[in-house]
Amino acid sequence: MKITIVAGARPNFIKIAPIIKAIEKKQNEGAPISYRLVHTGQHYDKSLSDTFFEELNIPHPNSNLEVKSGSQSIQTAAIMIAFEQELVENSCDLVLVVGDVNSTMACAIVAKKMNIKVAHVEAGMRSGDMTMPEEINRIVTDSIADYFFTTSLLANENLLKYGTSKEKIHFVGNVMIDTLYQNLNRITKPAFWDDYQLERENYIILTLHRPSNVDEEQSLQQLLLGIDALADDKKVIFPVHPRTKVTLGEKKLQYKNIICVEPQGYLAFLYLIKNSFAVITDSGGISEETTVLGISCFTMRENTERPETQSVGTNTLVGLGIEKLAKIYSSFLKNGKRESGIPALWDGNASERIIDILLTKS
Ligand code: UDP
Repeated sequence: MKITIVAGARPNFIKIAPIIKAIEKKQNEGAPISYRLVHTGQHYDKSLSDTFFEELNIPHPNSNLEVKSGSQSIQTAAIMIAFEQELVENSCDLVLVVGDVNSTMACAIVAKKMNIKVAHVEAGMRSGDMTMPEEINRIVTDSIADYFFTTSLLANENLLKYGTSKEKIHFVGNVMIDTLYQNLNRITKPAFWDDYQLERENYIILTLHRPSNVDEEQSLQQLLLGIDALADDKKVIFPVHPRTKVTLGEKKLQYKNIICVEPQGYLAFLYLIKNSFAVITDSGGISEETTVLGISCFTMRENTERPETQSVGTNTLVGLGIEKLAKIYSSFLKNGKRESGIPALWDGNASERIIDILLTKS
């Protein structure tokens, strides 16, 4: 079986790393499976791309479509045009896409129209928020995929509601958590750890990159000033995403607690999360990692496609703007961490399950 694996953005790289390991393990056992890795170039900054390939030992992509940034449509169209050519030149039996970025949807459409089977890893997630491009990417990809690999039984239910046939849905667990478990013993202090006198639980981690939080300068600055105030005696380490950097521009506001740093590599970032007092974020993946690490997470969104991080894990949705966050954070300070657990099958073996299923079904 020849699989073309697609990855385009930071969270994709983290998700494909264990899938590639699982394929290589099967290859070494003599299974008839091979892969080709295609990087669409959606994320091309070293700090969002190359660093992850190096740290997670992901092989150099066989092909880089180099689409770079653009509007939603320009980027999606560029990926489709380049990926069609890629598949014409390099045939395969299956295209495997992960997550919910533009590369996921664009490559799924191209493959399907060329009568190539599509596997979607992280299928069935739904936030119900059609203003987010990711939700559209999820729905379109799930409307045409052939194999649906899910991280929760709720995702199975979502797919069934959309009419997906039961035998195509496989609840396998969470590949992002595979990567977390595979790398926990490799995590490393960031270089600035001593410079900022960081110690276990004396700082908060902050990440923001969703348009609803970062595209409008005034409201972003207000949010940051609000977080700076609520942090009180804690430092706030803020790896600034390139999108957020554009909005903040060169103007540097003075913060009491917030320390702006570059986007971190995976191993340093995991070290920072694992030792933090709490995390404030608008990321989906980070709310999964904090759940497994038992770190309280406050998500600056109105909804989530990962409700198990709330019902089972450590995540609390705090909406947009500072007010609700400040209220919820102050009650967290009073009451401490709440009881939490780890969702079913988030055990580090999702990728192997996926490859086993593909090998038996193909
Ligand atoms: N991440 C990282 N360095 C950072 C910020 C995030 O390595 O400075 C990792 C994080 O651990 C998680 C992934 O990037 O594995 C989440 O990516 P992102 O927040 O961009 O995407 P989302 O999960 O929201 O789709």
